[in-house]
Amino acid sequence: MKSRYSEAGAKEAIARWGEAHGELVALRVYTSRLIGSDPDLVLHGGGNTSVKGEKRNLLGDSIACLWVKGSGSSLDRVEPRDFPALDLGYLRRLRALEALSDEQMVNELRTHLFDASSPNPSVEALLHAFLPHAFVDHSHADAVLAVTNQPRGADLVREALGDEVAILPYIMPGFPLAKEVARVFEAGPKVRGIVLLHHGLFTFGETAAESYERHIELVDRLEAFAAKKQTRAAVTAPPSVSNDDAAARAARLAPVLRGLVAEAAPASDAGYVRAVLEWRASPELLAFAERADASALADAGPITPDHVIRTKARSVFLDLDWAAEDATIAAAARAAVDAFRARYDAVFRANVEAKGIERTKLGSAPRVVVVRGAGVFAFGATKKEARIAADITEHSLRAKATAAGIGGYVALSDADLFDMEYWSLEQAKLKGAAPRALEGQVALITGGAGAIGRGVGHACAAAGAHVVVVDRDEPFAIAAAAEIEKAFGAGSAFAVAADVTDDASMRAAFDRACVAYGGVDIVVPNAGIALVRSIAELSSREALDVAKVNYLGVLATLREAARVFAAQATGGNVVVNASKNVFAPGKDFGAYSASKAAAHQLGKIAALELAPLGVRVNQINADAVFSHGDTKSGLWQEVGPGRAKSRGLTLDQLEGFYRDRNLLRARVEARHVGNAVVFFASQKTPTTGATLPVDGGVPEAFPR
Ligand SMILES: [Zn+2]
Repeated sequence: MKSRYSEAGAKEAIARWGEAHGELVALRVYTSRLIGSDPDLVLHGGGNTSVKGEKRNLLGDSIACLWVKGSGSSLDRVEPRDFPALDLGYLRRLRALEALSDEQMVNELRTHLFDASSPNPSVEALLHAFLPHAFVDHSHADAVLAVTNQPRGADLVREALGDEVAILPYIMPGFPLAKEVARVFEAGPKVRGIVLLHHGLFTFGETAAESYERHIELVDRLEAFAAKKQTRAAVTAPPSVSNDDAAARAARLAPVLRGLVAEAAPASDAGYVRAVLEWRASPELLAFAERADASALADAGPITPDHVIRTKARSVFLDLDWAAEDATIAAAARAAVDAFRARYDAVFRANVEAKGIERTKLGSAPRVVVVRGAGVFAFGATKKEARIAADITEHSLRAKATAAGIGGYVALSDADLFDMEYWSLEQAKLKGAAPRALEGQVALITGGAGAIGRGVGHACAAAGAHVVVVDRDEPFAIAAAAEIEKAFGAGSAFAVAADVTDDASMRAAFDRACVAYGGVDIVVPNAGIALVRSIAELSSREALDVAKVNYLGVLATLREAARVFAAQATGGNVVVNASKNVFAPGKDFGAYSASKAAAHQLGKIAALELAPLGVRVNQINADAVFSHGDTKSGLWQEVGPGRAKSRGLTLDQLEGFYRDRNLLRARVEARHVGNAVVFFASQKTPTTGATLPVDGGVPEAFPR
C-alpha cells in the first residue's frame, strides 16, 4: 500500500475549502478522500475520520469542536458539509457515565451539533472524541481483516507490528467501544494506532498527514506480513472457464436465483419483495470459485461486521452440473437457497431467545451466491445496492483467500453478527417510507427508444422499476437508457439493441436483461410500425413486413417473457401496447390495424396461458400520441402527412384536431400510456385480459 499524500494536493484542498471551512477541515476532507479512494482500505460508506479544533458561535465564544464524518456519505467523495461539528467538551464529559444506550448516544450527538441540519454523526463519534489527537483516521483495511480474522489474530498483529499498536478484541461500535479504546490508548500513550480484531484500524496524529501516513504505513506492513506468511498461493490456478462461458451460464441461472431470493409478501399488491442482480465474473472470482475451500470460505462470516447489512453474514455456494436439464439445475439451486433460509431463521430465533429481545426479522434470502464456473451473483433492493454487495464480495473473497493462506479464516460468531444485523439503530430505519409501487422490479420495453417507449420507461422508473430499453436502433436505445439514468440514477436503465422480428435476437435480448438485472417482471411489447396503404394497393409483401413487427414481434416478446417468467416463478405483468385501431379501424390503414388486432388477440391468449404462472396480461389502446419530449412518434411521422392532407389540415393543426375529437378534449401523452402500464403492473386490482383505452374518450373505440 502506497501513500497518496502530496503537498500539492494538500495546498489545493486548502485553496478549495480553507476560506469557507478553515484549514483543518480542508485538510480533513483531503486525507479522508485519500483513504476513501483506496478500495483496499474502505468500501461504500465504510470507515470514518475526524478532526478537532475551535469554532466560534454567534455570541463570539470560541468552543472546542469535533468534526466527524456523518452517516450517509462515503469517504471518497466526502465534502466539508459531510462533517457535522459537535461540542467536544460536552461529548468528553459523557465518558464519566457508566452506560449509554445507542439511542441515548444518538440523541446526545444530535443535541450537541452546531448546525441542526447536519447529518447524523458517525456512531463511532464518541470514540473519536475520547482520543486526544487532532486527527483520527479509521478504516476497514483488507490487510487488517485478513490478519485479524484468524485463530491467533492478536498474536499475528503483535508479530507484525510489535508494540506500536494497541490490540482490542471485537466489541460492537458504540459507547463501550469508545471507552475501551480511550482506556487502552491511555495505558500505552506511545502507540501509533489501535487494531480492532475482526473490525479495522484506528490511527491518529497531530496533523492530517501524520495520522494518514501512519495509517498507510501500518497497513502496508500488514500487507507485506500477510504476503510473507502465505503457506500456499492465495488463488491456486487460473479459471477453467472464460467470461463468455460464464455469461451464458449466468443468463440461464440468473432468473432462477432471482426468483429464489425474492421474499413472498402475500399481503402486498406486488406479492413479492424482489431483488436486483449484479453479476461479476472476473478471472479472479472465477478462479476463487474453483478453489477446494471456496464453499467453506463463501459460507464463513464477513471480514468486518458492518458488511452484514449489505451481504448477510454468509453466502451460498453452488457447484452445478451444467450438462443437466434446466429443471435439475433449478432444483439444486432451490435446495441450497432453502437450506440457507432455514439456517438463517434458526440463527435469528436462537439469538432473539438467548438475548431476550424482540426484533423484526429481515428477509432470510442470501444476498450473495458464489457459483463454480459462473461467478458471483450479488443481489440488492436496487442495482446500486447490488453493486455495493458485489464490490464488498470481491474484496471479502480476496481477503478470505489471503487469510486462508496465512493459517485459517475465522470470522466473528453468529451472536456478534446478529447484534450488528439486528442493531436497534438499523431496525429503526425499517420504519421508513413505504416502497414505491414497482420497487425492485425490472421492466423490459420493446421499441423502448420511441416516443411511447420513453414515456413508459420514465413512468416505470419513477415507480421504482429498473428499465431495459430494447430497440432496433442501438444509439437510440443507449440515449433513451441514459436519459432514464440521468433522471433516476446510475444503473436504473440498461440498453439492448435487438430486433423483434428476429427470434434469436429477442432471445439474446432477454438473456442480456437476465445478466444485467437478474430477470424481468414487467414486459411491454411496444415496438410497432405503420404503413398508409389502401387494400387495393397493399401488397402481401408489405402487409407481411408490418405484421412481422406488429404481430410476430409481439409473439416473440411474449414467448421470451413466458420463458423467463417460468424460470423466476414470481409472477409478472405483460402490458401490450395495442391501438385504438383494434376497435376503431381507419381506412387506408389495413396493414397496421389488422396486425395490431392480431397482436391484441394474442395478448388475450397469453392472459389465458400465463395465468397459471401468476402472470397478468393486459392491453392499452392509446390514440394520437405524437411525441415524448423531443422524441417524435415514428407512427405519426409516417401517417401524419396523409392524415392531415385527407382532412384538409396542415401538419401543425393535426394534433389539435385529434385533441378536439375525443370526449375529454385531452392531449394524449406518452406519459399517460406509462401511467397505465404502472397501474396494471402495480396489481392494484385482480385484472387480466383487460383493455384500457388511453385516448381521451373515443366512443367508436370503447372496448366491447
Ligand atoms: Zn468501523
